[in-house]
Amino acid sequence: MTDRYATRPSASWHVQVLTLFPEMFPGPLGVSLVGTALDKGLWSLETIDIRDFGIGRHKSVDDTPAGGGAGMVMRADVLGAAIDAARLNAPGLAPVYLSPRGRPLTQARVREFADGPGVMMLAGRFEGVDQRVIEHHGLEEVSIGDYVLSGGELAALVVVDACVRLIDGVLGAKDSLGEESFEAGLLEYPHYTRPREWEGHAIPDVLLSGDHRRIADWRRQQAEALTRARRPDLIANRAKGENND
Ligand code: SAM
Repeated sequence: MTDRYATRPSASWHVQVLTLFPEMFPGPLGVSLVGTALDKGLWSLETIDIRDFGIGRHKSVDDTPAGGGAGMVMRADVLGAAIDAARLNAPGLAPVYLSPRGRPLTQARVREFADGPGVMMLAGRFEGVDQRVIEHHGLEEVSIGDYVLSGGELAALVVVDACVRLIDGVLGAKDSLGEESFEAGLLEYPHYTRPREWEGHAIPDVLLSGDHRRIADWRRQQAEALTRARRPDLIANRAKGENND
């Protein structure tokens, strides 16, 4: 097991990533707010190198698909052993297989992950993983969008980044979470800052009025108009009273 970040402060949110490319971590998770939070022990990261559980002299992890067809499939026995080892080390984490077939990740699901003890994520490669592993280990299939990546590692980075910024103490008090996109089932309103005039474009007067009620109303209208234009699905869900964040 690759154990570079495995020290687990008792109160921290824990991430396990089962991958053929542990060198991709922490990668972008090692910088900025999320990286500082990692250094402070607000969350912890453990990479498990699937190759360590490979079969034979060549540590083989994949084989041809049953029934024929293109590409290779990650073996159930190899992945099963890697998951067993991961679970032994940190039981109780939400078990996830990153997959374009999965339910698209939402802010609501991110919040649930962030509120729990952490996530164990299997990053696939090749054509994907043997279905029996997903079923046997009850892995939740999670997609980060309707496109196909070459591996699950980038998806794992996305999931962790989205979760860690919700953990207590990661963002400063000045960083407002409540008004962000999806929090009220809407996209966020537009932002402006100095200079007051730039390339002939002025900041909307209302934002300089000092009238907090008018500013709040304007932002609300902007958020609704943007959401209606770009994400009518969110508006429809709001109308139905569904939690679509
Ligand atoms: N044959 C698979 C299919 O058509 O659904 C695609 C396999 S993809 C080349 C290899 C791996 O990348 C997958 O096993 C998965 O772990 C990851 N992956 C690709 N796209 C993803 C997405 N949109 N969200 C999450 N993981 C993804």
